[in-house]
Amino acid sequence: MTIRTRSATDRPPQPIRILFLGGHGRSGSTLISRALGAVEGASCVGELRYLWTQGVAKNQLCGCRRRFAGCEFWQEVGRAAFGDWRNVDAAEMSRLHHSVMRIRHVPRHVLTGTTGAFARRVHRYAATMATVYRAIAEVSGSSVIVDSSKFPTSALLLRRVPGIDLRIVQLVRGPHGVVHSWSRRVQRADKGGRLMATHSPAQTAAEWLAFNAAIESFRLTDTPWTLMRYEDFVAQPRRELSRVLEFAGLPSAATPFLGDGTIDLPADHSVAGNPMRISTGVVPLRADEEWRTAMRPGRRRMITAFTTPGMLRYGYPLR
Ligand SMILES: [Zn+2]
Repeated sequence: MTIRTRSATDRPPQPIRILFLGGHGRSGSTLISRALGAVEGASCVGELRYLWTQGVAKNQLCGCRRRFAGCEFWQEVGRAAFGDWRNVDAAEMSRLHHSVMRIRHVPRHVLTGTTGAFARRVHRYAATMATVYRAIAEVSGSSVIVDSSKFPTSALLLRRVPGIDLRIVQLVRGPHGVVHSWSRRVQRADKGGRLMATHSPAQTAAEWLAFNAAIESFRLTDTPWTLMRYEDFVAQPRRELSRVLEFAGLPSAATPFLGDGTIDLPADHSVAGNPMRISTGVVPLRADEEWRTAMRPGRRRMITAFTTPGMLRYGYPLR
């Protein structure tokens, strides 16, 4: 991603197109969003729902391996949006975000009108994020911004952001791989070796069903929606990436695959995400199937039983 100097005649087209990767965490969204962001005309900003906490407040590492406050891209975005990040109350934005983003708020996002305390908080957060998205488009010069926030309420909130052309990619990975990933103890290279969060199999399985159902509900709206399975992406990366690029309105000619089962990933400015977001260069494209050997048969059966409706829905064999 290059940073462009702004000028009065150099405005990005309106509305700003956001390609949102939705679904459950540990579904390969960091890899896929970076592959999309490596294409001319697109920029990957990672999980933007963490902008205020991980970026502005905690000054964590950007995908470019610089701290947020030392990243030229994000500092330019802050200047374009607010004059300086210090002109926005990051603690207030974090509180606002927290108060409208929980998964239990999904019905309120769908049913709440334009009045009342919840609607006012949504409006305030959405209006500020509209300014951020405009600045990202302006600074990056990209026509598509890839946001891998995944959370259903993040997608619902984006529908309220003015001036946004929202397109949803529902990213699904088989539940056993997701559960296994959430139960592993993995050190974060991007946070000084701190361990990644872990969740119990029961919690992950329940959330896998709930998050996917919530994201799929976009099919019933006028927001463009498409489905991508992580396993299909790894097996046929060129085909799947081209399909999603076309969905995003970008030419699919130049994908970053090298043709030998690897992908060449440039550094980008992801504000948060899986620790692999700071790895650059040639990365092998292999499905992470560790769960097949590492997961106990009893746990495997339990997950299958619990997630059967979703497995059937998304074409995963029950045996
Ligand atoms: Zn950066």
